Amino acid sequence: MKKGIMIFGFIIQLFSGKAQKSEYDKYPVYTGSDLGVTYTKGKTTFKIWAPTANEVELDFYKKGVAGTIEDMSNAVSMEKEANGVWSYSAYFDIKGTFYVFRVNIDGRTSDDISDPYAKAIGINGKRAMVVNLKETNPPGWEKDRSPVFKNPTDAVIYELHVRDASIAANSGIKNKGKFLGLTENGTKNSDGLSTGLDHLKELGVTHIHLLPFYDYNSVDETKPDAKYNWGYDPLNYNVPEGSYSTNANDPLARIKEFKQLVQAFHKNGLRVVMDVVYNHTALTEKSNFNQLVPDYYYRQTKDGKFSNATACGNETASERPMMRKFILESMKYWVQEYHIDGFRIDLMGVHDIETMNLISKELHKIKPDILLYGEGWTAGASPLPDSLRALKANVSKLDRIAVFSDDIRDGIKGHVFTYDAKGFASGQPGTEESVKFGIVAACKHPQVDYKKVNYSKKPYAAEPYQTITYAECHDNHCLWDKLAISNKDATEAEREEMQKLALSIVLTSQGISFLHAGSEFLRSKKGVENSFESPDSINAIDWSLKTKNKNVFEYVKALIKMRKEHPAFRMTTAKQIASNIKFLEGLPAGVIAYTMNGSAVADKWKKIFVAFNGTGKDISITAQPGSYKCFVAGNMVSETIGGYEGYWRLDAYSCSIMYQE
Ligand code: CA
Repeated sequence: MKKGIMIFGFIIQLFSGKAQKSEYDKYPVYTGSDLGVTYTKGKTTFKIWAPTANEVELDFYKKGVAGTIEDMSNAVSMEKEANGVWSYSAYFDIKGTFYVFRVNIDGRTSDDISDPYAKAIGINGKRAMVVNLKETNPPGWEKDRSPVFKNPTDAVIYELHVRDASIAANSGIKNKGKFLGLTENGTKNSDGLSTGLDHLKELGVTHIHLLPFYDYNSVDETKPDAKYNWGYDPLNYNVPEGSYSTNANDPLARIKEFKQLVQAFHKNGLRVVMDVVYNHTALTEKSNFNQLVPDYYYRQTKDGKFSNATACGNETASERPMMRKFILESMKYWVQEYHIDGFRIDLMGVHDIETMNLISKELHKIKPDILLYGEGWTAGASPLPDSLRALKANVSKLDRIAVFSDDIRDGIKGHVFTYDAKGFASGQPGTEESVKFGIVAACKHPQVDYKKVNYSKKPYAAEPYQTITYAECHDNHCLWDKLAISNKDATEAEREEMQKLALSIVLTSQGISFLHAGSEFLRSKKGVENSFESPDSINAIDWSLKTKNKNVFEYVKALIKMRKEHPAFRMTTAKQIASNIKFLEGLPAGVIAYTMNGSAVADKWKKIFVAFNGTGKDISITAQPGSYKCFVAGNMVSETIGGYEGYWRLDAYSCSIMYQE
């Protein structure tokens, strides 16, 4: 979310019990799967759902730029069919023709409206284009396959903005800021270290979660370098963003180039997660949805205004059949046409549970190993009751969908909105139970004292795949800046250990691991809290940091490798977690340690010992009985742990990992 606003547990319920029945329930429902354009050489059919319209006009244009009436080539009246659908068929090849709709409702004519189902679009998303999608496939596309992936808890997700990845002068990437920038192999920074795609491969993550890359509103595609945005302001849901294309004027270029990105990722062993924002649209009164069918696609407050659980001016009504259908068909389209491997659902708490479960069921049919996760919260009150929405507290009712755990995130580093708040990794006492809650992936565990967990007072996840474990995402201060702001007295060397400890907790905890791009080499956004519209100077990934902080990068890479090789860190059931993880009792404040029974989950490390010292002092604890080997000591891959006879030394702000074979 743009503003990263979250409201914990005090969402106001305007209506209780069940969803409010409204006049919109009387609208006819269309169940066909051919809304938008169905193209063949000999016949192209246009269909649009506009049940309240008295007349619908379809205008054809030669160009994709709006505002030039002189290039209009034709205008036709659409025919009214059953269930609110209007239709028109052209019996000649009209591939490459741009089109818009205009509806007349009770004597009022709308603006030109782009087709919400558009599959190709002109510059700045104003006019859709008739496309033969086969012509957008890069060579070898039919052979494109996603890398093998088994359990959701095997995922190590890396969250990245397309432009940030390559735009810096030191990226060594040719197609800076573009989809194609992430298809280049062999790119290096000035010290010869890999950047871009090769860096992602070297790091060893499994999924690249790209910030919004559907067509969004805030960047003028005629001047893609003039303004920056994260892209949480959707315009056309089923088309890639033009500013990431090498030629936004050519509707085919963005489609083909994004497919090239997917193809390159798949070839390099990486899966692609799409950040989707169906909870609101960039425009409200003037959105294509709202001009076609006024108010239908959005929830209203009691007094008939647009409700605003997103803090972006409107919230969509996923519980209404045609909105539900739109979201489902859109996500299916991205999977089928673009081979997308997963979705991150923005402000998922705005959507209703029934819709989310339908989506999950249908997407799993197409791609059984698809990864689905979302933000289990809203940014304001919604008229739909809490009990019906896909909130974090309801995740156990969701079918194969995970939620972000803000409990462990803020347990690790401190509350995101209280700038000077510290967390476990920066020496804050009393945060142990929140971190332990995250270690067990928000599942039920006999040794977690849920009363002391920061936000959730009970285990909300029924299974570990329902929890995303993270310390940082694009919202709020990035981890390195947060540590600097909240630990002004700490030295840079100390803060580096804090960051390594924070990432150690993420990568050793149960659930699904999630990293924000650049955290593996101490990325900074120069103190900017929410950089959604900050320039490249704030957002660009500075690839010289990989050289400067190479030890952090190598450490994170080693932990990812360890996680992938050892199933004990990614158990698949809550039962396994409850019976195979034992927290040590009686430890000093600020220290968490636990053992895992690796044998029980077929790990070649039969017994594993993990310890985190979140304090600024070295602490010695009694060594575990038996003979252990050391994998990590003091935030470094090491064969020895310090200490004296019968004691292990846990360095200040550090992680230790020991094992028995
Ligand atoms: Ca755009």
